[in-house]
Amino acid sequence: MPNIAVLPGDGIGREIMPQALRVLQAVVKDLPETWEFSECLAGGAAIDALGKALPEETLKVCHQADAILLGAVGGPKWDTLPGPERPEMAALLGLRKEFGLYANIRPVKMLPYLLDASPLKRERVENVDMVIIRELNGGLYFGEKGRKTNPPAAYDTMIYSEDEIRRILHVGFKTAQARQKRLCSVDKANVLETSRFWREVANQVATEYPDVELSHMYADNAGMQLILNPSQFDVMVTDNTFGDLLSDIASVLGGSIGMLSSASLGEKIGLYEPAHGSAPDIAGKNLANPLAMILSVASMLRHSFARHEAAAKIEQAIDRVFAAGYRTGDIAKPGDKVLGTKEMGDAVLEALR
Ligand code: NAD
Repeated sequence: MPNIAVLPGDGIGREIMPQALRVLQAVVKDLPETWEFSECLAGGAAIDALGKALPEETLKVCHQADAILLGAVGGPKWDTLPGPERPEMAALLGLRKEFGLYANIRPVKMLPYLLDASPLKRERVENVDMVIIRELNGGLYFGEKGRKTNPPAAYDTMIYSEDEIRRILHVGFKTAQARQKRLCSVDKANVLETSRFWREVANQVATEYPDVELSHMYADNAGMQLILNPSQFDVMVTDNTFGDLLSDIASVLGGSIGMLSSASLGEKIGLYEPAHGSAPDIAGKNLANPLAMILSVASMLRHSFARHEAAAKIEQAIDRVFAAGYRTGDIAKPGDKVLGTKEMGDAVLEALR
């Protein structure tokens, strides 16, 4: 019996999660097994109620779960807390560390109906179909950090072990093997020692995948190429920091970050969340696009439960909603029928029927 830990989090997380759950429940009711959902607090909401962004109760529920669904955490209310207590650090990085979620997978595919929502010219984005794989459990975000006095200074350290690089490269090569067999490894080997090591390991791992063509690209150029010629990429693999930046750049190719789902996979359990944050500027206004969260549910059905048909049903329902001309504000162009968060959830449910 699949058991899903549901963590709506903060801001628009609390608005998009209910829509994604409605869609998920509609799809799994046709499956033979019973699905269980356990909702709990994480992020700023958990700090307010229980004094900690990742309370023990939440961790316990997640440990008993087969997969975790997360909305988004953080917001201005908690921005003044010391770094380690902030929702993003304590809850998000805490979950990644606790469950060893080392591979973040973000598909970026241009949907035909959204070609005009992209800030780039149609001919530049129409063939975009790529996957960005970001190392999520090491590097700069997890290295030793601190402050110094006299003179005042701050530092973050970046360290990558061979094992950490090797395992994410394997995810990259396997993903490429199942697609167009082209893997681009992104680094800054011209300036960073960790990147030079990353490149050496990537070249070693490549010998195990003779059918995949490996290329290397500097991160600054990769940012530029994502804008100039994004359709050149099949699978991109990179470290935690570059992956954070590049996947956000790639997210707007499709029109809005509100369309981009993300899967974070470890040895045992997967965490599925939209690529965006809690969007305090639009929270509570029924303006958020729930589709990244709904697509994260489809990704969970695929990666954690091999329920490919159920996942495809959701993706096809979204296609039908677009074909009927419905959009949320972030992806609408003149003439589209603009829906709120809840109404977009209604539309996807209707299209599922
Ligand atoms: P953000 O992704 O929340 O918002 C960036 C912009 O995109 C905003 O203009 C927002 O309105 C828009 N946007 C985001 N999601 C949208 C959606 N579904 N529909 C329509 N528009 C959408 O990034 P930010 O503003 O830098 O961060 C806000 C808070 O979220 C911060 O506290 C940050 O730390 C946190 N954050 C959390 C996560 C996470 O939980 N995984 C990720 C990133 C940022």
